[in-house]
Amino acid sequence: MNDFPVPLVGIFGGTFDPVHYGHLRIAEEIAELAGLREIRFVPAGIPRLRRSPEASLEHRVEMVRLAIEGNSRFILDEREVIRGGVSYSVDTLRELRQELGKDVVFCLVTGADAFMRLAEWHRWRELFELCHFIIAARPGHLLSTGSRASPGALPQELEAECRDRWISSAESLKYVSGGLIFTAQTTLLDISATAIRARVASGKSIRYLVPEDTRDYITANDLYRE
Ligand code: ATP
Ligand code: MG
Repeated sequence: MNDFPVPLVGIFGGTFDPVHYGHLRIAEEIAELAGLREIRFVPAGIPRLRRSPEASLEHRVEMVRLAIEGNSRFILDEREVIRGGVSYSVDTLRELRQELGKDVVFCLVTGADAFMRLAEWHRWRELFELCHFIIAARPGHLLSTGSRASPGALPQELEAECRDRWISSAESLKYVSGGLIFTAQTTLLDISATAIRARVASGKSIRYLVPEDTRDYITANDLYRE
């Protein structure tokens, strides 16, 4: 078993269709407040729980690469697109455990909207053995007012599974190998990739919603146009 405390590794999955400042800002704040050694952006190959992404996976990966360049704690992790097919977080976590060894603790980073649907994920209960969860508030999906989910915010079976897992300080994360849930009070940014795609499709500006390099890439590759 580990000699605690151990370094924390954040894992931030998403479609990133495209990556935007909502993603980047919560990653930055969570890395800082939880003291993550690194945070790995993991673009999903074929997501299971939503319709297919609009941009190809090569484009989505490239946009993440451009967006996180220059931040030494942010790492692009292409394993799900390389693996191909439908992406499951349990597989990704098991692979990462093999690769990074036992002396790190994994923290799966999700927005509140994604976490609320956790019980639909493949073998979701196993995730609590493999990692902690760090949840970012998202406008319209506030989930909690304090350190735990507000009553009724989560579906019943998820709420039951989570009941004894909430912690109020990120400090505890590095002393246990998994199973804890921390809600991070990050800056609320009402930015979504859906709204960005719609803006591009209708010829509107997306400046200041995505990094400049990402915006240039979208223009140069004619992405999200009707
Ligand atoms: P889409 O509108 O296509 O679903 P999205 O903006 O939700 O895109 P995703 O790639 O689906 O982006 O999200 C990846 C992860 O980032 C999810 O866990 C999601 O909850 C979280 N996330 C995305 N945008 C925000 C935001 N503005 N605030 C907090 N969390 C966010
Ligand atoms: Mg989403």
